[in-house]
Amino acid sequence: RRERTINLGAGPSSLPTPVLLEAAQGIVDFGGSGMGLTELSHRSATFQRVLSAAEADLRSLLAVPDDYAVLFMQGGGTEQFSATALNLLAAHAVAHPDYVAQHPAGPPCDYAVSGSWTAKAMSEAKRLGANARAVFDARKLPGADGRFGAIPPVAEWQLSAAEEKPAMLYYCDNETVDGVEYASPGFPIAELPQAYRESVPLVADCSSNILSRPIDVAAHAIVFFGAQKNVGPAGVTVVIVRRSLIAEHPDKGVAHGGPRIPTTLVYKQHADNGSLYNTPPMFAIYASGLVFADLLRNRGGVTGAASRADMKSGAVYDVIASSNGLFQPTVRQADVRSRMNICFRVCGADGAPSEARETAFVARCKEAGIEQVKGHRSVGGIRTSLYNAVTPEQTLVLVDVMKAFVKEMQEQK
Ligand code: PMP
Repeated sequence: RRERTINLGAGPSSLPTPVLLEAAQGIVDFGGSGMGLTELSHRSATFQRVLSAAEADLRSLLAVPDDYAVLFMQGGGTEQFSATALNLLAAHAVAHPDYVAQHPAGPPCDYAVSGSWTAKAMSEAKRLGANARAVFDARKLPGADGRFGAIPPVAEWQLSAAEEKPAMLYYCDNETVDGVEYASPGFPIAELPQAYRESVPLVADCSSNILSRPIDVAAHAIVFFGAQKNVGPAGVTVVIVRRSLIAEHPDKGVAHGGPRIPTTLVYKQHADNGSLYNTPPMFAIYASGLVFADLLRNRGGVTGAASRADMKSGAVYDVIASSNGLFQPTVRQADVRSRMNICFRVCGADGAPSEARETAFVARCKEAGIEQVKGHRSVGGIRTSLYNAVTPEQTLVLVDVMKAFVKEMQEQK
């Protein structure tokens, strides 16, 4: 049945079948040892090899520079909403010991609010006492009507002044719920004012598009992603962080108004211990490592994934564009429509979204073996997620179902 099912879920989502079969074997009997991988000590030489291989392959895939640590953490993307702010505020307090005494609100933390996940990250930073500011909130743009679906040009962003020494600029490269992704090649780093770009740590949430196109890690302070879309099972969150930012223990900043951070959220703690400060999520790391190896050795690495992502999403957006208004993208600005999460409404003859037609469309998908295409409850409509593990052939099945649906609706009129 697995061979016939096309899983377009937004996450957790499809993973490559050969990887899952290998992982299934490995948790029963790893390498003929008579013990499953998750039954071994996390400090065993065997697990250490698995962890090191996963890290090495990820470093190759993303060309991670040596002065960046790669941390395998838990707590999901959501925990990083807290951890990014806390660690960078701590680093800021160590680097600028008099700052908080002179500016009691603390350094600004800038957020580019392009969708629901950045909005959540920013609320969490506020809740933790950070001086969080939206450089834009896409829901408040003219014509937005309270919905995400566009990204204004950098010239219109309300960035904090570089002289205010912001602790970070945070963005989400692909907003999973809303289907908004920075246009390729990615976040417009080069368009930031020079003084700002050179001094403000840049943080990227790449949970739902990592490994689908190259990213300039060296231009970031932190790149993080939960595994459960393009990478592996839920349970591991990868944090790539510039070592110089976490060189000092954050407790040093407490005397200067910096936050006190729970131990498991302290990047330095994980970096100093090679991600083995406490028991890591062994299965998720193992399976993610298999995905890294497969992408690197069998699937052309990140550039291979990028060309497949362009081709797959392009084919679906083409049907949408030629559907005479039957399918309408929920993202208004065409160049920020996601390659990963394609969100659209199915509309009636009057051009308005029709839930009846959406129900019929979901049913046609099911008949063709396509599962998990209902949109997020906050957006409605349809969301087809074309993560790395979704093949071009599977995407063509979706394209055919969409084309047939256009015909069916035309005949109904
Ligand atoms: N960021 C993005 C872009 C997401 O899609 C998600 C949800 N998967 C999160 C953060 C939160 O992740 P988690 O559920 O792992 O906490």
